[in-house]
Amino acid sequence: MWIQILRNKYLTSRTLAQATIRPNDSPFWKGLMRIKSNFFQRVKFIVGDGTSTRFWEDTWLGDSPLALQYLMLYNITQRKQDYVSAVLQSIPINMHFRRALVGARWEAWMHLVRRLIQVQLSHHSDSVRWTLTVNGVFSVKSMYTDLANSGPLARSLHIWDIKVPLKIKNFMWFLHKGVVLTKDNLIKRSWRGRSNCCYCDQHETIRHLFLDCPLAKLLWRTIHIAFNVIPPTCINSMFTTWLSGVDVKLSRLIRIGICALLWAIWNTRNDIIFNGKKFNNFLQVIFRATSWIRTWSSLSLADNRELMATGCSRWEMVARVIFNRFGWRASNRLGV
Ligand SMILES: [Zn+2]
Repeated sequence: MWIQILRNKYLTSRTLAQATIRPNDSPFWKGLMRIKSNFFQRVKFIVGDGTSTRFWEDTWLGDSPLALQYLMLYNITQRKQDYVSAVLQSIPINMHFRRALVGARWEAWMHLVRRLIQVQLSHHSDSVRWTLTVNGVFSVKSMYTDLANSGPLARSLHIWDIKVPLKIKNFMWFLHKGVVLTKDNLIKRSWRGRSNCCYCDQHETIRHLFLDCPLAKLLWRTIHIAFNVIPPTCINSMFTTWLSGVDVKLSRLIRIGICALLWAIWNTRNDIIFNGKKFNNFLQVIFRATSWIRTWSSLSLADNRELMATGCSRWEMVARVIFNRFGWRASNRLGV
């Protein structure tokens, strides 16, 4: 019953119009439609009499809607929103297509028909099973977690899972959103001053400071040499596709290191600009970062703590070797 309520009673244009909400163009309507669609994507229908389950668009036969499993048929079907009961209650199957079923379409249709023959409608109502919980019962938490871990925007939310202090997570979030107060952003806020990078004198932007500055490039290079981790191509990819394909446990450790690196670049920069401190060389930034990683390791599990300690020593060793070999102008010598 409640499937019908959710589907038909409250969320129709007519009821919303009665509530003086204009469907289709209001943010409220769009939000409701999004919630509705997110909900039904995570539900599996257990078909009884088939009167509440949409034949093409609900998940009831297999692990995804038939519309996705048989897209070429769905594209040419005449009534995309029919219920299972409407399709299966007659012989032959009550389905009409706008085009002839030939070739691959015929094959697909035969494949589907073979599966439909196994389906027995009953006198019970359809029910739903929530696919994200073991007991099949809907929980807000399971939906929230699933939404947070899927979708292009939400993927960046792994920031909040990294085992670093909250202020560092906030900093990373601001970085992702492009609102860290580098000089270009300050100028947009009517700040008057030179926009030069304190490390190299070029125009300071977020991308420059953390990726393109010769110092940043050199720092990323040390990581590449020490851990064979290729630097991200842009700030956005650092939070999304970068590290996809890397083992999950390993990528979490790498992200802790990257938080430390970026935080060290930022704090060293602030010390130079606001506290008049002198910048000596890139080792300064790396040792700052490793000391934070060692401190933050207390937030991680014991076996990860050990890996983090080993990683810090390795990074420092590689940095020292580069420094001893090329000096503080290593960036020129390494061609970064
Ligand atoms: Zn620079």
